[in-house]
Amino acid sequence: MINVPKGTKDILPQESYKWQYVEKIARETARIFGASEIRTPTFEHTEVFLRGVGETTDIVNKEMYTFLDKGNRSITLKPEGTAGIARAFVENGLANSALPAKFFYLTPCFRYERPQAGRLREFHQFGVEFLGSYSADIDAETILLAKTFLENVGIKNVSLYINSIGCKECRKNYENALKEYLNQNLDALCPLCKDRLNKNPLRILDCKNDDCKEITKNAPKILDYICQDCSAHLEKVKKLLDIAGVEYKINPNIVRGLDYYTRTVFEFVSENIGAQGTVCGGGRYDGLIKELGGTDTPGIGFAVGIERILLLLENTGVEIENPNKVKIYFAPMGESESEKVFELVSNLRAQGVLCDFDHMGRGIKAQFKYADKIGAEYVAVIGSNELAEGAVKIKKMADGSESFVKFSDIKDFLSNN
Ligand code: ATP
Ligand code: MG
Repeated sequence: MINVPKGTKDILPQESYKWQYVEKIARETARIFGASEIRTPTFEHTEVFLRGVGETTDIVNKEMYTFLDKGNRSITLKPEGTAGIARAFVENGLANSALPAKFFYLTPCFRYERPQAGRLREFHQFGVEFLGSYSADIDAETILLAKTFLENVGIKNVSLYINSIGCKECRKNYENALKEYLNQNLDALCPLCKDRLNKNPLRILDCKNDDCKEITKNAPKILDYICQDCSAHLEKVKKLLDIAGVEYKINPNIVRGLDYYTRTVFEFVSENIGAQGTVCGGGRYDGLIKELGGTDTPGIGFAVGIERILLLLENTGVEIENPNKVKIYFAPMGESESEKVFELVSNLRAQGVLCDFDHMGRGIKAQFKYADKIGAEYVAVIGSNELAEGAVKIKKMADGSESFVKFSDIKDFLSNN
């Protein structure tokens, strides 16, 4: 037997309807906020992610699926959605379109990670990117979109953490202070963080290593260093979130430690899915479009992990109704009844009714068993009497009650019950 590759999953019909539910709410929520879908390729030139995600990140350092294609180009399967969209924005000249440009996406992502609950090698993200506005209200709106999505899906008990990582100018002061502090504790840092210290010290605040976490606890806090403009921006975001009634906590350890990430960063974290508690991460990236060769255009966005959403729904007992249940199942008693049933089913399907009948030549008892197994709402047995009368007894599986219905009235009966 050949197995799926480690860290990937089959999504079978008993799961796929849950995905459709979450995806539908994602699309609908994004639509209400004025965002339209963008689809970019599953793979890009590796360069897009080196520049668009950043060479000092975990993603680029150790998680990318990178290979040479047959034309000797370095290709990478997308590890996240933003960089490809930024590339598309520049390539398609969208800076000249009506701004802000508001995009959402649903995409598979690929990261070479150690698989565990809520952490896969192929996973899926819903995300949005709003490009073109420096205004704090688009930050608040982005956060509100994520929050609305989580609420609409049925997720409770998530905490919103926000922070500001300042701008290019004020972050330098902070980085210097941070470096100075960390240099005093250099020996205790993990090898990766030792390496990060000079390249991108902010990333160290995000390190999962316990020793590093212990050290960064007492590190200088970025909010003590950001400039007046950045501080005012954060205050405005907070004020707007207050107006919208969104609860949040300031968490100075949340960083998106890339050069072109700026100001607002945020995460939604749940206590209900174990170690992989972050369901959504986002932030402002005013330097990204320029980094990818476009005209200076600000942006902000977030990404939610769909697998973690589904895990959270399961762990908190949120039931999702399966819309694929058969409304009525016909059980013909023989060959000629089967032809009539074929006709009835064809007519009902043409009218949009989800119905089915026996394709296996089973006896009546086995057909009932099957109907029960697939969760059919009604079952109608058709024998020679029913053919003669042009009517059938329809049994409601939930309570066993029966109704006598003419063939021509089945659709109406089902609509009214
Ligand atoms: P983590 O700290 O858990 O590794 P991250 O900071 O790498 O997360 P982002 O790059 O911000 O994650 O991606 C946004 C969201 O995508 C995460 O909050 C999470 O819900 C989801 N996600 C990220 N990596 C994975 C993965 N390997 N498997 C499943 N979901 C993931
Ligand atoms: Mg990660």
